[in-house]
Amino acid sequence: MASLPGVGPAFAETLRKLGIERVQDLWFHLPLRYEDRTRITSVRDLVAGESAQVEGVVEAVETGFRYRPQLKVAIGDASRETLLLRFFHFRRQQAEQLKPGTRVRCFGAIRHGQHGLEMVHPQYRVLHGEVAVEETLTPVYPVTEGLGQQRLRGVIEKALVRLPDEAALELIPPDLLEPLGLMPLRDALLGVHRPSPDADVAALLAGRHPAQQRLAFEELLAHHLGLKRLRAQVRKHRAPALPKNPGLEKRFLDGLPFALTRAQRRVAEEIGRDLGQPVPMLRLVQGDVGSGKTVVAALAALHAIANGWQAALMAPTELLAEQHLRSFREWLEPLGIGVVWLAGKVTGRARARALAQLSAGAPVAVGTHALMQEGVEFSRLGLAIVDEQHRFGVQQRIALRDKGSGNGEAPHQLVLTATPIPRTLAMSAYADLDVSTLDELPPGRTPVRTVAIANTRREEVIERIRAACAEGRQVYWVCTLIEDSEQLQAQAAEVAHAQLCKALPGCAVGLVHGRMKPKDKQAAMDAFKAGDIGLLVATTVIEVGVDVPNASLMVIENAERLGLAQLHQLRGRVGRGAVASSCVLLYQPPLSGLAKQRLETLRETSDGFVIAETDLRLRGPGELLGTRQTGEMGFRVADVVRDAPLLPAVQRVGAAMLRSHPVLARRLTERWVGGAARFADA
Ligand code: ADP
Ligand code: MG
Repeated sequence: MASLPGVGPAFAETLRKLGIERVQDLWFHLPLRYEDRTRITSVRDLVAGESAQVEGVVEAVETGFRYRPQLKVAIGDASRETLLLRFFHFRRQQAEQLKPGTRVRCFGAIRHGQHGLEMVHPQYRVLHGEVAVEETLTPVYPVTEGLGQQRLRGVIEKALVRLPDEAALELIPPDLLEPLGLMPLRDALLGVHRPSPDADVAALLAGRHPAQQRLAFEELLAHHLGLKRLRAQVRKHRAPALPKNPGLEKRFLDGLPFALTRAQRRVAEEIGRDLGQPVPMLRLVQGDVGSGKTVVAALAALHAIANGWQAALMAPTELLAEQHLRSFREWLEPLGIGVVWLAGKVTGRARARALAQLSAGAPVAVGTHALMQEGVEFSRLGLAIVDEQHRFGVQQRIALRDKGSGNGEAPHQLVLTATPIPRTLAMSAYADLDVSTLDELPPGRTPVRTVAIANTRREEVIERIRAACAEGRQVYWVCTLIEDSEQLQAQAAEVAHAQLCKALPGCAVGLVHGRMKPKDKQAAMDAFKAGDIGLLVATTVIEVGVDVPNASLMVIENAERLGLAQLHQLRGRVGRGAVASSCVLLYQPPLSGLAKQRLETLRETSDGFVIAETDLRLRGPGELLGTRQTGEMGFRVADVVRDAPLLPAVQRVGAAMLRSHPVLARRLTERWVGGAARFADA
């Protein structure tokens, strides 16, 4: 790294935060997306939900105070329409610089505002004279604190000069690669970092350019090989055989306020068979929201407890972990089984006590990934359960394997996910796991009635909330934004919160978003759970797993912007009690054809598997559904849904490489996952 000109120790340290340690890590640090600054769009042709570059003259400036200071700049162009630029954070000079008559060029996402189209926090520059537009698409890289796009682009440029020839770069043997007809790796890397002026812009923006597909294939293959290898390594260990204790299990089941569903019994049986073997279990339980995975996890934990081993249950957020803690305590304490709590916020003496209990062999621990951290020692960890796996990457699974695996022993592993994914995807995304499916919901659930309502009828929706609150029912209002910016999401939620507080004076309105202090977030959630808050305004932070049975109305703002899977997850927050629940998908008209189909699908079905399949089918070319899938699986360029057609070849080539080229297989995994693994350790 230090051999690159201009990379001193401080810069190298910053790069390390991104998992970049070697020159080749820079080659594979790929753009997250592109910005099209090759043309100017006239204001009249702007489309909400898309990003565009606009050039115009400032017509009016306002530094208004509504709920907080903001700078609003109206610009107009030759199409004689006006676009509003809105800034929530700004400096005095900015306001002064953008005087009426000033010519600006700006780039940003277009959205509907109260008075027509607007851009929130666009990037902009003041123009003096003619300035040419960019010739090629502008790559946008994942960056980190203290490192801007410009600087990162510069160093990647320098690293690309050292890209070796194709033969030295390629790790997939030619006899396996050639039949696939993919672009050479070297060309693909140059093509994504520096798109040529005549490259297919639409394909690049959609991630379907041959250069991206070449890299996506390689990345999927690398992960697949990594998972397969992980599985093989884990299965070489011994694990404690944990046969079931029928007496204990019966007492547990007798204490539950419900009977297990048939699906729960079957899956518990499958898990029980694995746990009885002296080889580590590697099993995924996929089940729709509300299908009752927690109690299945508790049953698995009983196997460990009954045999004198420890079980640990981990969730990706404190909110979820606490919910599990409550369930486990409610179910297990009457049997005389204590549950230890360990999360990031457990500190000082409480933490020391929890750690001491775990190393002394306390039977069950519930917590966040804090349970996987250094310094947490189990005396006899027999079973590790991870909830909502899609937020945990391969790296965390490696850490999990290493936990409690001294002297050739490894704990059994159970993974729970509420994101049902089609079988073909499961085979690749979870190549290291056996899969069990909870395909049945507990009885007595009334299906959530789903309606799509245009934002122009917002008042009616607010009226419904008023009525629900008056009846003592609880309501979620979820704010969404297409940008992956927590800050903008938080602002949107704050604005909605202020608006709803005003519109609903008789109703206690709470707020949670990702930028709040964990303590305040927790307080708001607790108040909602306790029923002290009638309406909870939230960002998508509440997406996963939160269980408040009294909440029976969910409003999702800008529902047209979200993917099916995410909408389904959100909707799953209601319909958990006996009261009939409904979900209002509030959208900004006009709807695109695909958005219409998505909302239609949700109205018609609540089956997570049907929804997952439809999601796959609807993701046609040309529509950008954001990078969520990429982000969640920890991929840089691949998207398991978009790139599903590549998966059969991934499995075929993967099997052949493991058989005949194990060394190349390992190098390939290290190239793609190695950097990220180091990142996870940081
Ligand atoms: P998820 O699969 O989404 O994690 P949970 O485990 O949180 O679902 O269960 C959702 C709710 O359903 C909980 O309140 C739980 O107690 C309840 N539940 C689970 N299994 C059953 C069942 N067989 N019958 C009735 N209610 C059940
Ligand atoms: Mg759950």
